[in-house]
Amino acid sequence: MATIFSKIIAREIPADIVYEDEHCLAFKDIHPQAPVHILVVPKKEIARLADAQPGDQALLGHLLLAIGKIARQFGVEDAFRVMISNGADAGQTVFHLHLHLLAGKRFRERYAGLPEAAGHNLPVTLRDRTAAQQLARELVGERQPVCVAEH
Ligand code: 5GP
Repeated sequence: MATIFSKIIAREIPADIVYEDEHCLAFKDIHPQAPVHILVVPKKEIARLADAQPGDQALLGHLLLAIGKIARQFGVEDAFRVMISNGADAGQTVFHLHLHLLAGKRFRERYAGLPEAAGHNLPVTLRDRTAAQQLARELVGERQPVCVAEH
């Protein structure tokens, strides 16, 4: 089903496009969660990652290679994260497959001392309550489940 991303691909609504090739389009997220927040979208309409078929294998690889190109374009190839939400319960709001490329100076500094907290292997234990709350806010901003408990 056509979504807002199909309209962006068709140039029916505007977006800040940063990369395009035969198979995908990349544009800045309208509500950035990091200094660099780019959405990479296949031109083919695939609602969710789980809906991709074996015939989409090359396309999925192509999207990851595009991420690398765009990361280099923004000078963030040494520090970025890629995120895909699959399904409403995982936070997916636009049902046209897209990869979030998240990076930037603040992002790097924020997670520099917290490698175990960089988006995987929760729960995380932090002694500093303020740091824990700040981290929780950032993770929530990236739509990851967070529970802050005091011990
Ligand atoms: P999801 O929540 O599905 O993983 O990601 C959808 C993303 O699309 C969100 O981060 C949201 O900010 C972004 N988004 C939604 N509508 C638009 C739009 O019209 N233009 C742009 N550039 N981004 C959008």
